[in-house]
Parts: sequence; C-alpha cells; structure tokens
Amino acid sequence: MSERNPPRVGFVSLGCPKNLVDSERILTQLRAEGYALSDSYAGADLVIVNTCGFIDAAVDESLETIGEALNDNGRVIVTGCLGAREAEVRAAHPDVLGITGPHAYEAVMGLVHQTLPPAAEGFSGLLPAAGVKLTPRHYAYLKIAEGCDQKCSFCIIPSLRGPQRSRPLDAILGEAESLVQSGVRELLVVAQDSADYGRDLKHRPAFWQGRPLRSRIQDLAAALGELGVWVRLHYIYPHQSVDELVPLMAAGRLLPYLDLPLQHADREILRAMRRPAAAERMLERIAGWRAQCPDLTLRSTFIVGFPGETEAQFEALLAFLRAARLDRVGAFAYSPVQGAAANALPGALPEELKQERLERFMAVQSEISAERLAARIGRREIVLADEVHADYWIGRSAGDAPEIDGVVVVDGAWELDPGDFVEVEITGSDAHDLFARVSDEAEA
Ligand code: SF4
Repeated sequence: MSERNPPRVGFVSLGCPKNLVDSERILTQLRAEGYALSDSYAGADLVIVNTCGFIDAAVDESLETIGEALNDNGRVIVTGCLGAREAEVRAAHPDVLGITGPHAYEAVMGLVHQTLPPAAEGFSGLLPAAGVKLTPRHYAYLKIAEGCDQKCSFCIIPSLRGPQRSRPLDAILGEAESLVQSGVRELLVVAQDSADYGRDLKHRPAFWQGRPLRSRIQDLAAALGELGVWVRLHYIYPHQSVDELVPLMAAGRLLPYLDLPLQHADREILRAMRRPAAAERMLERIAGWRAQCPDLTLRSTFIVGFPGETEAQFEALLAFLRAARLDRVGAFAYSPVQGAAANALPGALPEELKQERLERFMAVQSEISAERLAARIGRREIVLADEVHADYWIGRSAGDAPEIDGVVVVDGAWELDPGDFVEVEITGSDAHDLFARVSDEAEA
C-alpha cells in the first residue's frame, strides 16, 4: 500500500478518562506506523472499539457500539475493559476479528497488523511530540498507573484491569514535559487510585533532571507542580497520603482540588463496601485541609441504596453531607455489576426506594453546592479559557474539572484563544456554573 493511500482505521473510544488515555496511545501508534484515521465507519478499512465494562449500562453501550460498527463496516477489533470478558463479547458478536483486554496496546497493534498491514512507511517524524490526543490542545490526561489493588465490593475494575502497575516516575515526568511543550496548560492526573501511586514500585528512588525523587504521589505531584501549568489530581482514594498533598495545594504547586470518592459515610456500609474511613474522622480531616488551604474545592462521589442500607444509615449519610459541605458531588443509586462481590450481600433495596433516596440526597447536596458557588460571588479568580464565542467565552476556574464540573461563563467579545489564563471577577452563580466579567485590573 502506498503512503498516498494509507490504510484507514476508524476508532471509537468509550468510558472514562483512563480509557481515553489508552485510546490516545493506540491512536499515536497507529499514526506512527502510517495508518490514517477515518471519522466514519464507512470510510474505514477496519474499526477498533475501545470499550467500557464498568457498570451494566456501559456494557450495553459497548455491545451496541460493536454491533453498529459490525453493521456499518464489518471488520471490527474490540479492546478495553469489556474485552476482558471475551466470552460475553463473542456471544453477542461472534464476527469480531479479535478481542483484547484493557491496556493491551501491543496486542491491539498485533491484531491490526494481522488484519490490515501497515503502510510501507510510518509517520513518526510528523507526529506531535505529545502524540495523538483526544482532548482539546490545552489540556491533557496524564495516566500515572494502571489497575487497582483495592477490593471495593461493588467494583470489578481490579478483575478487569488487574493489580496496580505504576508507570516509572521519569517516564511520567517526561511525558508531562512534552505535553507542556506542545501547548498543554492543564494536566489532569488519572489512575484508578492516584494516591497509591508507586506502592507497587516500593516507592523506589528515581532521578529527574539530576534530582533524586521517590516513586510516590507526593514527589510526583511536587515535580509536576514545577512545570508551570495547572495540575489537577483525580481519583484520590482517601489514604493518609492525601494529608501530604494538601500543603502542595496551599503552596500553589497543585490546583486546590481534591477529587476524593467517599462512597458513603456510615461505618457499617463502608465496611460492607470494603472501604476505609468513617464519617467523624473524615469530617476532622476535611476541616484540617480547609484550614490549611481555604480555597480547596472538594469533589466526591457516593452510592445510595447499597444492599442493607437502613433509613438510619441513609440519614447518617445526609447528616455527613450537611456537615462536610462538599463543593461538587456525584451520586449513583446502587446497581449490581456482574461479577462484583457486593452481589452476594443480603438486603437488596427495591428500585423505587433507591431512586427516592437518590432524589433526597441530590436535593440536600444541590442546595449546598449552590451555596458554595454563591459564596464566590465578588471574588477575583483565574480562569482557563476553553471555548471562545462571538460575544462570550467559557472557561473553568481551579475548582472546575473538564467534563464533570461546572464552567465559568464570561460575557463580552474578547480576543482570546482556548488555553489562555484570564483573571475574572465572579458576578453570579446558579446550581452548577459561575458567571463572570473580565476584572477591571485585567482589562487595564
Ligand atoms: S478504588 Fe475501589 S472503586 Fe476504585 S477502581 Fe479500585 S476497587 Fe474500583
């Protein structure tokens, strides 16, 4: 096949940011080997579907997408979390060309080579140093580890993605540096459990720019914080190590943003979930973090209606919410995931009760989130521009992660580019978003 007519691959990426990073890596390799990317099934010689298998709805979506790709193209390779359940994929779609599990770049590329040989010459010289990215140019996900060593009873990620394997510290910092050189202004650090980074490496020493560091989240975060861009940490399991990250946030090295999935506040439910930390101690820790870093934004996720959850335990969760006054909260009604240990627990709740509790939970939290946003009116904050329109632009403050949190809407026509940092004055808020004007000092 000539370089002028390269083989074309269609690619569908489903699921979470961790999966997106896997997709970016496969796409980078495809481009490096001379494959062209197709934005339609019809125009592709082959389609790769990177699937999600986290909850049943994600499995359904993944199977549906594979079906669509088979209908419209016919030559399909499946990878990602659902690929770890090969028999299930084969049962639904016996005609797929090949299946690999998550984080299996070489196996995916092997399947691609077998079914669609590469162009005679690759394009590595033309590739951006940061590789192919699926996010806008000014922010990027930085995956620091694969897999998870925790045993949360409702989750099957460890069986899909295996135990934690941390990436070498110098490889992460090298990637971060090349992302920054290519124009990235915000690094979003992801792993299944970012705070546990390096434990599987026994926190071994590593060198970066001639300096000795240890392979642990505190050293990694501090080094990332020296790159001169926003660094946001995601998926922080509530380990003790979090206490050592907050001073870096207070010192401005990391964004003052803790994405800390807590899942529940009742001791018994947490035990059944095989999760740590009961409410009183967590409230104390939150108060301590806020005392050290008053601008801290706290995001968390919770599951309501877990098997056996009594009304009193649910009320304890609401009481925790009222006391903790978290800024951003996501919540889910418990739904069993095929293969999860929690499925064997007694006391499954009826669907209506789970939904009713979810609504009560969200009613309490929406009021708190709205109050937390309203308290920022009048403040001056730095905002990173995401989208620039004719007479307004949309950005995010330190407290807003892309895709999951709110945004800051700023009126007026401004000569800006996505990725610019601008100081604004917050003038209004609603339940999710902030409204702002460019502050007088920035205008002057
Ligand atoms: S920390 Fe728990 S919920 Fe998160 S991936 Fe690991 S097992 Fe799943």
